[in-house]
Amino acid sequence: LLELRGLHKSFARTEALRGVSLDVQPGEVVAVTGPSGSGKSTLLHCAAGVLVPEAGSVTFAGQRLDELDEATRTRLRRREIGLVLQFGQLVPDLTAVQNVALPLLLDGTDRRTARTAALAWLERLGVAEVADQVPAELSGGESQRVAVARALVTGPRLVCADEPTGALDTVAGEVVLTELLAAVRDADASLLVVTHDNRVAARADREVVLRDGSLAAGQPVTAS
Ligand code: ATP
Ligand code: MG
Repeated sequence: LLELRGLHKSFARTEALRGVSLDVQPGEVVAVTGPSGSGKSTLLHCAAGVLVPEAGSVTFAGQRLDELDEATRTRLRRREIGLVLQFGQLVPDLTAVQNVALPLLLDGTDRRTARTAALAWLERLGVAEVADQVPAELSGGESQRVAVARALVTGPRLVCADEPTGALDTVAGEVVLTELLAAVRDADASLLVVTHDNRVAARADREVVLRDGSLAAGQPVTAS
């Protein structure tokens, strides 16, 4: 589904990615781990089509994301790739249900249909009761679940999640992770998940480790 080949990405003084190649198969859950600053978020942003690498290719469902113009890339990304970032990613002025409905509205779905779909996802993630609250009125766990709902509402084929449990305590993190994995598996989507949490990596099909912008290892995680 996703083929990353020889990705290079630099910021001012830092070479964040130095030739990273990685494949994600349809339905596969791949965990990306590694020390802070090793390039995990940069890799995820390139995979999701949010960042374009200076060299290398990003092929999603047969299309070169890195070669598309920005408008086309954004449209494709909105429809087919769900993105879960760390804290503070919800639009502060919109309620939870409006946040979840937003990707559908941007993609041309009518208001009523978008709202119904958004409510169904909030329900499924166990946060329907906070649908009309704004992000400032949500707990960390509730916010993360709203963010997961927003990433899944369009029925993406690939979900890219950056530390989806990073801001949560053990119990809340476990709940969000379980729901994210279940939703991804149900939808037959693939998941690329950046994490510091060994338990997340243990539940992936495969773990890859980034060090200094290069992939160190790609051992399959033995199924339990
Ligand atoms: P963490 O585990 O702390 O989230 P990470 O593995 O996700 O770290 P990245 O965010 O990908 O690391 O950053 C890789 C390197 O690129 C770091 O040295 C970082 O300082 C640098 N970097 C990332 N984004 C930018 C940016 N927008 N501008 C300048 N430097 C950046
Ligand atoms: Mg990061």
